[in-house]
Amino acid sequence: MASIKYYSKCNCGAITINFDNGASNSMYPKTAKKLGLDLRHYKRYNPTYYCDHCVNHWGIDLCECGSGEEVGKCSCGLNKAHDEFGVKFDSLAAFMKGFYMV
Ligand SMILES: [Zn+2]
Ligand SMILES: [Zn+2]
Repeated sequence: MASIKYYSKCNCGAITINFDNGASNSMYPKTAKKLGLDLRHYKRYNPTYYCDHCVNHWGIDLCECGSGEEVGKCSCGLNKAHDEFGVKFDSLAAFMKGFYMV
C-alpha cells in the first residue's frame, strides 16, 4: 500500500491526495472522511484551481464513464469508480482497454 505524501485542495471543493508511488487520487472531502483519512496528519500544499476531479472527472468517488457523477449514482448504470485508492492511473492501459473494447 502506498503512503500519502501530501494533499491539496481545489477550488471546486475536491481534494487531491498524492502518494509516494506517484499516484494521485481526487475525491470529495466527504469521501476522504468515509475512508477514515485524517488529513491533519499530512502536509497540505497550496490550493489549486483545477484538478482531475473537476477537469477530467477522475476520482475514486466518480463514475468510471467520466460523466462527473458519483459512483453508483450515475445514469450510465456502472458501479465502478474511475480510480483506485493509492493506485496510479495507467493511461496507456486504459487506452489499450478502450482499444480492445471497440
Ligand atoms: Zn477541482
Ligand atoms: Zn457513469
